[in-house]
Amino acid sequence: MSEERALNFIEEIVEEDLVAGKNGKRVLTRFPPEPNGYLHIGHAKSICLNFGLALRYGGQTNLRFDDTNPTKEDVEYVDSIKEDVKWLGFNWANELYASDYFDKLYDFAVALIKKGLAYVDDSSAEEIASQKGTPTEPGTPNKYRSRSVEENLQLFADMKAGKYPDGAKVLRAKLDLAAPNMHLRDPLMYRIKHTHHHRTGDKWCIYPMYDFAHGQSDAIEEITHSICTLEFIPHRDLYNWFIEQLDIFPSKQYEFARLNLNYTVMSKRKLLQLVEDKHVDGWDDPRMPTISGLRRRGYTPASIREFCERIGVAKRENMIDVSLLEFCIREDLNKTAWRRMAVLDPIKMVITNYPEGQTETMFSENNPEVEGGEGGRDIPFSRELWIEREDFMEEPPKKFFRLGVGLMARLKSAYIVKCDSFVKDADGNVTEIHCTYIPESKSGNDTSGINVKGTIHWVSVPHAHTAEVRMYDRLFQVEDPSNEDGDFKEYLNPTSLHILPNAYIEADLASAVPGKGYQFIRKGYFTLDKNSNAGKLVFNRTVTLKDGWVKK
Ligand code: ATP
Ligand code: MG
Repeated sequence: MSEERALNFIEEIVEEDLVAGKNGKRVLTRFPPEPNGYLHIGHAKSICLNFGLALRYGGQTNLRFDDTNPTKEDVEYVDSIKEDVKWLGFNWANELYASDYFDKLYDFAVALIKKGLAYVDDSSAEEIASQKGTPTEPGTPNKYRSRSVEENLQLFADMKAGKYPDGAKVLRAKLDLAAPNMHLRDPLMYRIKHTHHHRTGDKWCIYPMYDFAHGQSDAIEEITHSICTLEFIPHRDLYNWFIEQLDIFPSKQYEFARLNLNYTVMSKRKLLQLVEDKHVDGWDDPRMPTISGLRRRGYTPASIREFCERIGVAKRENMIDVSLLEFCIREDLNKTAWRRMAVLDPIKMVITNYPEGQTETMFSENNPEVEGGEGGRDIPFSRELWIEREDFMEEPPKKFFRLGVGLMARLKSAYIVKCDSFVKDADGNVTEIHCTYIPESKSGNDTSGINVKGTIHWVSVPHAHTAEVRMYDRLFQVEDPSNEDGDFKEYLNPTSLHILPNAYIEADLASAVPGKGYQFIRKGYFTLDKNSNAGKLVFNRTVTLKDGWVKK
């Protein structure tokens, strides 16, 4: 984190609170995911903000699962969320579950009923909606609103005891049916749902609504700064009202703009559709904007944290260009990735004046960006090499500094070669090129006096390993698929995955380490896929070397 940047508005608030001695000068934030999907890059922004604040001000952060909606939640999601937060580099003070507070929340609800501030309503969802009025007209109270405290206590206890079917009754706050803020017009506190919960099992058949669970959970944990996204601004008055009426710890809610990224979708509901309809290979498909997808793609935690730092914390929504995310990983990998040679679209080169059966080794540094190169490896060189098809041209234009008959180029970390001829198959495709090498031109000991402009990569034919290389492009063809006509899935990019089944890689890459980034020289940054194994090596392209993306 760069220390020089200006404070964001939430840091300013925290600093003011610390100066004023609020909350006993304590900072306790929380990250509150609902375990109904995998975390995405938008969540990373919230994680970096919440954990970052605590780190900066000597505080702590709770990981709280907001598991009040039993129908959509799952232990698989809980596990993945924990893994992702840890992987991003953050440690939570406590792992907590809103469902652990169900007893307390029930008691809070009873306390409000006793104060005459909550009532059981038998109306249907439609009736409740129709009685709510409009922003310019007040709502109309129904006959249930005047139920006695005793009756409400009994009915609420019966709701809890399972006497009523789903939807038969709800508990509502008795607040203000004329409030300009519609969220204050007697909001729902509890609904009946006879559903198994991933933690509380079948103990409960009534579940608290978000508005009655979130603020109270914050207060129970004595969260000092409860940070959420802008769409919760209209909920803030209600958040404060419940806390005031219950006279519990005064947590405060602050809102910031959610992260929107172009060429993708970010709602868990939509990401789930992509998974269920098999448009992608699971939540961690390398094209997904999920943390697990980015990890499988080869993103590093540092690059994601840097991205979140760069986009900052704003009060107004905007759309961030995905090329900024790509820029952050490119910068990181440029400094850390080991350089290797891989030929993705191979064509054979025969060096006709190099002795048959001879092998020598060429030394090359792992990382020229670092003093000392982080060591290096020996690359076997022989008479037959694979080179990239695009590095040869039958009829090279002027200023083509690679190979064509009569042209010279340097083989990276090895010799200068001159192209003499090429061979074609019956279909007219070039299958082989023939070259001669200059023995005095060996890299590091070049006495040839020949200057060539182009350097190309290569892999020795008898020493090469094969690999499948997966090239990824943006998942969607349009910047904001959620804002187009029709279904967002119509805008999927049909060529977002391009598989190169037969790449040749230098021998050293056969022992590539999972989770590590490699620069395939001149080709981009790559990492092993999780399904790679010794029998079949699979690499994912993390990002290209340069930003070459052009709008279609
Ligand atoms: P989605 O709409 O993708 O399903 P959500 O808001 O329902 O996301 P939660 O699990 O409730 O997901 O979110 C946990 C926390 O992450 C919340 O505080 C939420 O505000 C924050 N968050 C979710 N999406 C983003 C985003 N795109 N940018 C910043 N913060 C986000
Ligand atoms: Mg949510």
